[in-house]
Amino acid sequence: MNESHANKLEQEAQRVASRNPTQAQALMLEAAEIYLRLAEMTGQEKYMVKAQQLYQDSEGVGKTKVTMQDEQASVDFNKIIAKKPSISFKDIAGLQELKQKIRLKIIEPFRRPDVYAHFGKKVGGGILMYGPPGCGKSLIAEATAGEAQATFFSVKASDLKSKFVGETERNIAALFDEARKRAPSIIFFDEFEALGEARNDAHSVNKGMISQLLTEIDGMGSKNQQILLLAATNEPWMVDLALKRDGRFGTTLFVPHPDVVAREELIKLQVADRPMDKGISTKKLALLTQNYSGADLKGLVDGAVELAIEESLASGQLRNVVMNDFLKILKRKRPTTIAWYKQALKKATASGESEMFSELIEAGSKVLGIAG
Ligand code: ATP
Repeated sequence: MNESHANKLEQEAQRVASRNPTQAQALMLEAAEIYLRLAEMTGQEKYMVKAQQLYQDSEGVGKTKVTMQDEQASVDFNKIIAKKPSISFKDIAGLQELKQKIRLKIIEPFRRPDVYAHFGKKVGGGILMYGPPGCGKSLIAEATAGEAQATFFSVKASDLKSKFVGETERNIAALFDEARKRAPSIIFFDEFEALGEARNDAHSVNKGMISQLLTEIDGMGSKNQQILLLAATNEPWMVDLALKRDGRFGTTLFVPHPDVVAREELIKLQVADRPMDKGISTKKLALLTQNYSGADLKGLVDGAVELAIEESLASGQLRNVVMNDFLKILKRKRPTTIAWYKQALKKATASGESEMFSELIEAGSKVLGIAG
């Protein structure tokens, strides 16, 4: 009855928690008793803390059963929008190459599984998208589901993580179950770095989560399920290598900030249906917004519209948005991508995976004016 025995019981509890919560609870209580005795014997506070923690966690294991119908499901599936999106690739400016790759890897396998079967091509695995914030990763994920007419699940690590032992794993299992029920489905993991943080750096809750995720992903291939996976991150170097292997998120795609053509397209999309003055030149605005992200450009248009609203309210006369509104906002708004590229270049180079990030390094060097 020593500390290492209690430790083993804890580990065993973690191992069985998703399959057998009752057994896990019993193991945790047994471990808690040991810590309590150790606390009494040695007077050491740390054993008392451990015991309390285990008593608390064991209650959680007993109570939480995650199924979609269960009132106590700890995943709020309302937050994980399960819908058939109405947007499609035409709502996304630029990113032609990315759209084509996604089309071949995700959309066509849904539409024409027979063609892939004919060529003996195994369908499955996922795509990990990475790049500067606000450049359309989430949008393209949703549009992919729209194009494929698939149910769209959008998940963040915080939706799935639970402090109760074993519950995070059950949440992941419940998510895949639900996706199977509503197949064809696309599960999109946003902020993937938080979900798939390298196991070396991670706490035990992350370890269990990654293992469960790997189990689900590996299981998908064998069952030929109509579920495909997309993930996005701004910190791809944080993602566990095991998740980036072939058959899992083996395809890593860089989502760059928009070039001048895409910027004009994006601005046009944003100003459509808004009262714009004829003198507004979207071409000029595109030229003036080098290195702006899609979200920055949306902010620019929103800002200009707000100025027109303010003035209309003040004067009592409705007026259109004019070029000067945009120019005023431009003076205040700097592109957000630059700070990201600075940071990303350092991290990508130091990651030991710089080959994987070659497109990012090329784009970042251009933005920062570093000779390649
Ligand atoms: P983050 O990394 O911060 O999650 P993200 O890359 O997922 O960002 P989105 O959330 O998809 O970026 O984009 C933010 C908003 O910017 C979108 O809702 C959309 O309005 C606009 N946007 C970004 N890129 C594009 C694009 N290529 N075409 C049209 N709109 C875009």
